[in-house]
Amino acid sequence: MWIWLIVLCGVLALVGVVIQRRMANTETGESLSSASEEGEGTEESALVAKRDTAGEREVSAITATKDGGWIINPESAFRLTLYGIDQATALRIKHILDATGAEWPPSAKVDALLPVIVRSHLRCKEIEAYINEFRPVYLKTLDDLQRTSPEWATATEQGRKELLASFRAHALASLDTRPRGNLTILFEDTPNDLTIDAALLDRFGYDLMQLYLRHADPPGKIYLLSRKHPDRAGFDELVNHGLAIRGPEIPLHAIVDTLKLKEIKAMVADLNPPPLTRKAQAIPYLLALPDAKDRVARVAPLQEYFQLRPLPPEFAHVDLQHLASAWRYMREIATLLVDTYTRGHDVVEQKQFYQEHDAGVSGWKIVPDEDACPYCKRSAERTYPVSQAPRIPLHLGCHCQLVPSYTPAAKPVCELQAVEIV
Ligand SMILES: [Zn+2]
Repeated sequence: MWIWLIVLCGVLALVGVVIQRRMANTETGESLSSASEEGEGTEESALVAKRDTAGEREVSAITATKDGGWIINPESAFRLTLYGIDQATALRIKHILDATGAEWPPSAKVDALLPVIVRSHLRCKEIEAYINEFRPVYLKTLDDLQRTSPEWATATEQGRKELLASFRAHALASLDTRPRGNLTILFEDTPNDLTIDAALLDRFGYDLMQLYLRHADPPGKIYLLSRKHPDRAGFDELVNHGLAIRGPEIPLHAIVDTLKLKEIKAMVADLNPPPLTRKAQAIPYLLALPDAKDRVARVAPLQEYFQLRPLPPEFAHVDLQHLASAWRYMREIATLLVDTYTRGHDVVEQKQFYQEHDAGVSGWKIVPDEDACPYCKRSAERTYPVSQAPRIPLHLGCHCQLVPSYTPAAKPVCELQAVEIV
């Protein structure tokens, strides 16, 4: 029990110190970058990019590999090697990953990285290696669970959806090494071709395409967005670009379909209609009225209804489902890059801090998070010698913490004397 209390106090103290050091860094410009650890055979040269923008670390280094890749975190225990991009793009990515301050939570970094990834042909060696190793295991488990499930063959469509959700959870839980994140997207949305049509991005811009794709499924869905809704301005833009229609342009039946039975009944109450107990009765009754549109407009704010349109004919070759899936996949790639990069950097700082300020450290422990994979939980079962700190992140997307351990304190002197007297 007391060991965990010490561990907890250590983590809390460290978090405070790291925050203090980051603030000090912003103010004084002191470099927090540490020297690279051991070299790698494929490295060609180290490039140093000076940064002087407030809120960023002063010095960041990337390393070029002989086969055209860029190691963006050579100091980390888990290196990330990017291919398919030029040096300027690699530095831009590192620039985003290095951003610090309250306005840069991980989600903001993912948002900032995604446009860079979407517009490039970026590939990450370590992410691809993970997918190549574990995707077949995941898919096989999923397949085995379906084949051996007594309910699967006779289940309804809804029943199969629920069964598949539980099979997915089971297949993911059985993986020995598991990054935090949405692995279903990583394993099931793996696109053959990650190229996003540049003409599409040039024509509509990244933000508009992201909004469009986020709402493209299911096709034809009606969206009711008040003026205060965060996506409202974006939808107005979609209308301006011909990617959506609004209010009166939307077929009336599609809007009425989204209303509740009691709302439809209220629209026709003055006509003493026959008993309308289901929407299937009420909708045709309302739509058959010559003034149906006026009646709907009096209750439903038509200007706040939106429906996406298909892409223009010149983009007829674009498969929207494929595009949306590739976009989700790239978001997951961005998330893994942010998580792995950040954890690796923080652990280097933590280790350095303890080595400089805490002479009492006698070893290291790994504290896994509650969703940690079996590999991390096994690795956390032992204490590591002070000279052999575990290399965290232990794998892609690992969220484990590094904490110091201490030699148990000697028994109090008075207690020892009492033992001798007896
Ligand atoms: Zn871990």
